[in-house]
Amino acid sequence: MKLKLGLLYGGKSAEHEVSLLTARAVSQAIDFDKYEVYPVFISKEGEWRKGQKLLGPVETVETLQFGDDTGKANDITSFLPAENSAQELDASTGNEGLDVIFPLLHGPNGEDGTVQGLLEVLNLPYVGNGVLASAAGMDKVVMKQLFAQAGLKQVPFVHFIRKEWKNNQALLLEKIESSLKWPLFVKPANLGSSVGITKANNREELIKAIDLAFKYDRKILVEQGIVAREIEMSVLGNDTPRCSVAGEVLPTKDFYDYSAKYIDGTTNYAIPAKVSDRLQKSLEDAAIRAFKVLDCSGLVRADFFVTDTEEVLINEVNTMPGFTPISMYPKLWMASGLSYSDLIEELISLAIERYEEKQ
Ligand code: ADP
Ligand code: MG
Ligand code: MG
Repeated sequence: MKLKLGLLYGGKSAEHEVSLLTARAVSQAIDFDKYEVYPVFISKEGEWRKGQKLLGPVETVETLQFGDDTGKANDITSFLPAENSAQELDASTGNEGLDVIFPLLHGPNGEDGTVQGLLEVLNLPYVGNGVLASAAGMDKVVMKQLFAQAGLKQVPFVHFIRKEWKNNQALLLEKIESSLKWPLFVKPANLGSSVGITKANNREELIKAIDLAFKYDRKILVEQGIVAREIEMSVLGNDTPRCSVAGEVLPTKDFYDYSAKYIDGTTNYAIPAKVSDRLQKSLEDAAIRAFKVLDCSGLVRADFFVTDTEEVLINEVNTMPGFTPISMYPKLWMASGLSYSDLIEELISLAIERYEEKQ
């Protein structure tokens, strides 16, 4: 019997369009002999819609996006597994339940544990990280505190909330300037894609950068800047995760900002990165340790700074990294001998394995 796979894509986040491209690519890579594939679309306004079974790979994003609107908006019961009694209510509408969900969503509302919590409550197996890992991985302050506990090296940082900044600006500036060396990186705690991140070279820039970061979040962090290589590792698995070869991001401008990631095409990538065996080993150890301390499952991309003395500092993990066939996460697996189709297949098996272990 074929597994009914729901591709959950779109979403309210800034990465809506990227998600559409990912869903199209996954539809082209999936084995239709093994799976019945159902698109589950979330509009930019946050409306959920389950489309009809896909008959084959989707050629254009438009077909996928608008494919079919027989799914009742926001009727979450239509995603429940067939044996669930709520399904009987749906029989009249011709909706079929799903066996496993592949959330292809990034950022807040998709990668932060909220959708994962919904899928838990629905008792549906889903690909990737659970509630805890997703939420902890989305909050850079919580993530860094856990990394510190696991003995992972990272750049020093200071964090505070909006109210503290309002009430104690002078004190906080003093704390930042006495404990960190310029330049500084100011970041909202809960975001990705470099949104709201600024490099500050002096006090005036720092204050502007802090005001900007507070537009995105009530909690922010200020980090010491580092001159280093940016190296990323893909991790795959549940209880016994394994690591890909290393990949390097080579921004040609000041840092790897939003435009360098998605717009101006100025960034170069080295896949695999040139790393010694010793460095590969340290990166693997650190990536696996990060995966374990956040209690990750399925996949994670772990991002590092590597200094010219080959010191490895962890920057962050991304619990739902870019997943189009030209994204770093799948490309690192391709370079390690695992095709895009096989990667998808393995992630679905891991989702089911994790679900069964919990029962
Ligand atoms: P995001 O989750 O939005 O990707 P990151 O923390 O990875 O946020 O920061 C985005 C980019 O900013 C990094 O890829 C890097 O180019 C640059 N950057 C961030 N922190 C530092 C730092 N402490 N020193 C130097 N560059 C940094
Ligand atoms: Mg990130
Ligand atoms: Mg990053």
